[in-house]
Amino acid sequence: MAIYDILQYPDPRLRLKAEPVTDFGEPTLEIVRNMFETLYATPNTAGFAATQFNIQKRIIVIDLSKEKNQGICLINPRILQSSEQTVSYAEGCLSVPFIVETPITRPESLKAEAYNFKGERIEFDCDGFMAKCVQHEIDHLDGILFLDYLPDEERQRIEQQYGKVA
Ligand code: ZN
Repeated sequence: MAIYDILQYPDPRLRLKAEPVTDFGEPTLEIVRNMFETLYATPNTAGFAATQFNIQKRIIVIDLSKEKNQGICLINPRILQSSEQTVSYAEGCLSVPFIVETPITRPESLKAEAYNFKGERIEFDCDGFMAKCVQHEIDHLDGILFLDYLPDEERQRIEQQYGKVA
């Protein structure tokens, strides 16, 4: 196993879009294992998307448990339905090395589908922190950062201070 390096803003590779996983064999499992190892080696981290490690595959891992023993891996995740009701929380990201206090507004709950590491399709509903994480990580797979949702003025201030992602 290996611990991956985490791409840091404003690395332009954070804008690369991930390709769907078509092969659930050993190379994919190896990526999943390394993603979990990196997740558990990084304090205060709820999840990662493969694109944060410069791997353009549609894979995310999330573990919201305190004991870090309830990891879930979502492959080719897709949001099927989002609630009209929205909720706003401040977000953090291990690829963003500064704190942003402005809340980001997202749908409060959603229905999603994904494949597990065995290649079995799963469908699930989630809300609250889990829904926020799923949306944040799926955004990464599409080259989107939570910063993209900030008001223009604030984003421009961040770009002046820290640089702009291509
Ligand atoms: Zn992130």
